[in-house]
This record gives sequence, structure tokens and C-alpha cells, in this order.
Amino acid sequence: MEAVEIKLNERDVRYLPAGALIIDSEEIDNYNSSDDEALAEHPRLRRIVLRIMPHWPLTCFYLHWSDGTDLTALDERVAARLAIREDFRDAVAGEALGMTCLNCSTPVRVVKAVTDMPIFTLKEMRMKHPTYRHHCPTCGTPWMAHVLEFIGDPAEQPRSAYGEEPVHAFAPGK
Ligand SMILES: [Zn+2]
Repeated sequence: MEAVEIKLNERDVRYLPAGALIIDSEEIDNYNSSDDEALAEHPRLRRIVLRIMPHWPLTCFYLHWSDGTDLTALDERVAARLAIREDFRDAVAGEALGMTCLNCSTPVRVVKAVTDMPIFTLKEMRMKHPTYRHHCPTCGTPWMAHVLEFIGDPAEQPRSAYGEEPVHAFAPGK
């Protein structure tokens, strides 16, 4: 399946069904090809690309479902132009970034819920309480970040895969 241009909450959005890769023919914020390949077949999220403001660059976000929604069926509805607002009601928006555990220094790349930017104003989406990943995958230290998914396996990837500058750090939990 190929990318499909849809309207989501009045916005023009490029929806990537499972298996379709984002083509970076122009600059896309929050995008890299290794994230894209790692998440292209993910059972709980779908990638979207949109322009938040008219003169801003395209930006990659992730729609994440914690409720078992059948995303293969959603792909088919989107491709057939049959998807409706309610199909996205149970999703929350996330972005990919690198973080480092303050306790064990494990770098992880994650999809973190976007909580500080009104990219989607569907009230239903903002009110969702998804299943977050509450602990460091290496040492089990709890953290406060709203992590929706890990990208890849921290133990199997070189440190350089996580980006040069972690932008968030986990506070050691009690
Ligand atoms: Zn840790």
C-alpha cells in the first residue's frame, strides 16, 4: 500500500499504511529512515506527515493506539477513502526522540506522546490515556516521560543509532 493523503481534523495529512516508507524528497522534521523502517510494520502505530503551519517544514508524527484497534483494517479503510473521524478517535499523537536513562545511562529511542503542542485538537484524542512504557528497559527505573513505544531494542543497537544529543533524561524514580 502506498501513502494516502487524507484530511484529519481539517488538516492535510499524509498517512503511511503498514509497509509504506516515507520518501524524504523534502526536509521532514522528526524523521529519519531508521525510525521509519523500524516502525513501518508496527501493530500499534501509524506514521503521518503533515505541515503544522503553512510555512513550516513537513513534520513526521505517529498516531498510537493502545486499545487493540485493527490497524490493518484501518489501512484498508484509508486506502478506500472510507476512513472517518471516529477511526482516529482512540489514537494519541507521538514523536520520535532519543533519551538517556539517568540511572544506567542506557540510550533509548522512543515514541513519546506529544503533550505540549496542539497539533490535533480532537477532544477525544486529547482525553485519551494510553498505555505508557513506565520503566527503563535495561534497569527498570521508573520514569515520568510519556513513552508510548520503544524503537528497536536498546541492547542490539549501537549508541550512535540514538542520535547525538539526548533531549530528555529520565529522573531516577523512587
Ligand atoms: Zn536504566
